[in-house]
Amino acid sequence: AARSGDDGVRAYAPSMGQIFLRRFQLVTQFRNALDTGQVETHYQPKVALPGREVVGAEALVRWSHPEYGRLAPDEFIPVVEATGLVDALTSFVLERALEKVRDWLSRGLHLAVAVNLSVRNLADESFPERVAEGLERHGVPAGLLTFELTESSVMADPDRSLPVLRRLRALGVVLAIDDFGTGYSSLAYLRQLPVDEVKIDKSFVLGMGTDLSDMAVVRSIVELGHSLELSVVAEGVEDDASRDQLVRMGCDTAQGYLFSRPLSEDRFETWLWARTTR
Ligand code: C2E
Ligand code: CA
Ligand code: CA
Ligand code: CA
Repeated sequence: AARSGDDGVRAYAPSMGQIFLRRFQLVTQFRNALDTGQVETHYQPKVALPGREVVGAEALVRWSHPEYGRLAPDEFIPVVEATGLVDALTSFVLERALEKVRDWLSRGLHLAVAVNLSVRNLADESFPERVAEGLERHGVPAGLLTFELTESSVMADPDRSLPVLRRLRALGVVLAIDDFGTGYSSLAYLRQLPVDEVKIDKSFVLGMGTDLSDMAVVRSIVELGHSLELSVVAEGVEDDASRDQLVRMGCDTAQGYLFSRPLSEDRFETWLWARTTR
């Protein structure tokens, strides 16, 4: 059974046997998918509050599978993450993202791009060097690249991940804790992590209009982030009321369907153009 997800991405409810078969297929097919253009990066804008200035975009991967159609990242990323293929995925997305920033810069647009990292990237001591090489090759200032990582991916093996994070940060790359408020949410750790930004998990932002405890969580994260001198980003901003509330709380940056869904490269360009020339 297939239903349409809210992103126009199909989600399935298959049997266990089908799940195993499909996972196996996805792993064996992913390398080829990367090489044959089935995998693309889409971009979702990030907007500086309280205004509407676009300050960057998050790169989000999409797989158009020849048999299964558009696959949701939540279906194939975990499978890919369980294998060494996630290195190839991160390199692919990073390469595209840096090309994009270069492209924007050459047209006078100073926009940052955010790339999601996996636990495996954080355990890879050669990763920071490859990032430095990519920035250099594309002539992109490190400050225009953000990496988003979850607390649980950092805490999986802090002895390995912390040195990698410190080296990335030393390059001048911006580090953000994604999905903040879920998982460990260890406030004590946050203080010690070498990060610049916290990104409030969308579940709290989506709930803030109807649920007072979600509202309280969002407010506390904004306050906590600011007290640690971190920039605070809210994702999952779907309506004006949430945006206005975030502005009142002093949240720095917003991302969500209110501004735009993640768009293909071409459609993002069109969106951006309409927005910056208006
Ligand atoms: P994430 O990093 O938390 O990305 C945010 C997700 O929220 C995206 O889902 C985005 O489409 C969705 N979203 C954005 N605004 C709204 C909104 O206003 N309302 C709602 N309901 N949802 C919104 P997406 O694109 O399906 O990605 C899912 C997850 O897959 C991402 O969660 C991230 O963990 C992972 N992912 C995506 N691309 C990559 C990648 O290149 N590398 C890695 N390692 N993971 C990726
Ligand atoms: Ca993210
Ligand atoms: Ca997130
Ligand atoms: Ca997530």
